[in-house]
Amino acid sequence: KTFQDLGLPQPLVASLDAAGFSTPTKIQIEAIPQLLKGRDMLGIAQTGSGKTAAFGLPILAAIMALPGRPRPMSARALILAPTRELAVQIDEAMRSFAGSAKRISTVLVLGGVSRHAQIQKIAKGVDVMVATPGRLQDLVDDGKVWLNETRFLVLDEADRMLDMGFIGPVKAIAKGIGPRRQTMLFSATMAPNIAQLAKDLLNDPLRVEA
Ligand code: AMP
Repeated sequence: KTFQDLGLPQPLVASLDAAGFSTPTKIQIEAIPQLLKGRDMLGIAQTGSGKTAAFGLPILAAIMALPGRPRPMSARALILAPTRELAVQIDEAMRSFAGSAKRISTVLVLGGVSRHAQIQKIAKGVDVMVATPGRLQDLVDDGKVWLNETRFLVLDEADRMLDMGFIGPVKAIAKGIGPRRQTMLFSATMAPNIAQLAKDLLNDPLRVEA
């Protein structure tokens, strides 16, 4: 199978070609067609499985098909990650997949760095926000981000987010987005606390182990 067979639009296939991605991985083959149809997903997957492209490409495809621009102070898609390092990697991957589709705007929302530049980008509205939960919750509490326009939510390495004590912000952020969303949850393990979170946040999810 090729990325084109999975139903991705030509501009994304072209940037995958340019990045040297010719053959989709197992999780990509199983997830991408279902995510393009709008399904929720529960992925039991490690780094190295290709999970970033599995959730990132369908989100970009959906955003590229939307008319207009993102609303000010909003993000069309929100990807939560436990650490700054992982958030930086996801942001880089999303920008490389978006490639020449230059109208895709992105913002990284991380703790430990100045809020100012983050707030300025968000004020204009962004397509894709990659965030660590603590800083994002701060900005939401201060009225700098509105979550009600967000339509795609990814929780990457959800087990680590729970281990790091982010259950409160994660649940508050999901609640702020509301039910009109497509949700994708990835975890290395299926511990009871992850099963419970999946039950709370996902609607009839596709389950993939990779
Ligand atoms: P991930 O599991 O998303 O962290 O991806 C692991 C690594 O595999 C990253 O360096 C990706 O750039 C790379 N990768 C993901 N999918 C593919 C693919 N289909 N073909 C080649 N490399 C890939």
